Amino acid sequence: MHPLTSDDIRASFINASKREAALAASAARLDGVAWERLDIFGWTDPKNPLVTSVVIPVDDVPVGILLRTSTTKPKKTMCALCEDIIAVDNVRLFAARLAGAPGRQGNTVGTLLHTDLSCSAHVRRAPNTMEGKADPEGFIARRIGVLHSNAERFARRVMGE
Ligand SMILES: [Zn+2]
Repeated sequence: MHPLTSDDIRASFINASKREAALAASAARLDGVAWERLDIFGWTDPKNPLVTSVVIPVDDVPVGILLRTSTTKPKKTMCALCEDIIAVDNVRLFAARLAGAPGRQGNTVGTLLHTDLSCSAHVRRAPNTMEGKADPEGFIARRIGVLHSNAERFARRVMGE
C-alpha cells in the first residue's frame, strides 16, 4: 500500500469523531513501516488496548476504521481478512461502528480479525505441501488478492454500502 502520514491517517477515519481520529492517529507508529509489504495498516493504542484502528485502501483511497474489542480471550479461529488456516491463534471479535448517522444510532458490524492486524504477513508466508509447493509465488499472489478483496468488502460494509 502507499505510505501514509499521520495526517493522512487522521483524515481517513470514516467511523470516528474528530477527537477519536486524532487520538487514534497519534498512537500509530510510522517509523520503519515496510509499506510495500502491507495491504492494510493496523495498530492498537497502547493507552487504550481495547481500541484498534485499521486503514484499508479502497480504490486507492485510504479508509480508516476504528474497531473495538472486549477483554475476552482471543479465539482459535480463522481471521475474516487473511483467512489463514495456520495463524488461528490471536484472533478476536471486533466491532466497528458504521459510518455516519447509522453509526451514531449505535449500529455496528462485527468481524473476526487478527488482534495485531498482522494479516499482510500471513498472506505472504510460503505455502505448505498441501497448499502447493510448486507455485509459491502464485499462491502468495492469490492470497494477497483474497486479503485485498476481504478488506475492501469489510470497509464498504462499514461505509454502509
Ligand atoms: Zn488476519
